[in-house]
Amino acid sequence: MSGRLADITGPNIPEKISDESVILLPVGAIEQHGPHLPMSVDTVIAEETSNALLDSLGNEMDLWLLPTLSISKSNEHTWSPGTLSYSSNTMMSVLDDIAKCVSTTAARRLVILNGHGGNTSLLITACRDIRVAHGLLTFLVHPSVPPASGGTSTEEEMGMGIHGGLNETSVFAYLRPGEVQMEKAIRRVPEWMAENKWVKFGGKVQFGWTSKDFGIEGFIGDPTGANPELGKELFESAVESLSGQLREISRFDFQEN
Ligand SMILES: [Zn+2]
Repeated sequence: MSGRLADITGPNIPEKISDESVILLPVGAIEQHGPHLPMSVDTVIAEETSNALLDSLGNEMDLWLLPTLSISKSNEHTWSPGTLSYSSNTMMSVLDDIAKCVSTTAARRLVILNGHGGNTSLLITACRDIRVAHGLLTFLVHPSVPPASGGTSTEEEMGMGIHGGLNETSVFAYLRPGEVQMEKAIRRVPEWMAENKWVKFGGKVQFGWTSKDFGIEGFIGDPTGANPELGKELFESAVESLSGQLREISRFDFQEN
């Protein structure tokens, strides 16, 4: 059986949630995405991807969605009024509280599906902290791995389409037709950084940054060619890849030693 945890009645939890259940927590963000996109982009992508996974895997796997965590750690964008962000400490506490509650059920596997690249390093830390504190098997998955964390983006964006660029804008255009203001989309790629050997997105040297460090528009990439057809393709291939990831997660366990 599968579904949304919030739809189960309290007394039915022991009957519905077992040690075979995979609990999925979609994590989004409400943060500025440049002038062409609304602040909800990461939340919409995380939630719609999770909904699609429930549709595609619901019959073969015991998959349960938690409500989407819409606000997360977006302090690289808080220079822009209206961006909503937890501090790192608050975000870690929120995740710990949620995990603690999940551990009151029989479920053993908690998967965080992250739609916001800025969360990645914190969520990796949270996976270990939750494992230690609550004994759950923890996993972190992404609809698309952020280029700043080893993922890729297009050649035209020189691998730096990390925020509001071609791919993200296309996926959003597919999921929310009519909500992208394409007339405001321009190219904003920090080409100067591409020459660096070490200090760059996904390079061996990590560095702290805010989106404003790359220009006042607040996005990084080239959304000018974005279109819903590309978005559909990217979204469907993400769901297919994540379906495989969740199948493996549902079987994953540590071996006796
Ligand atoms: Zn985003």
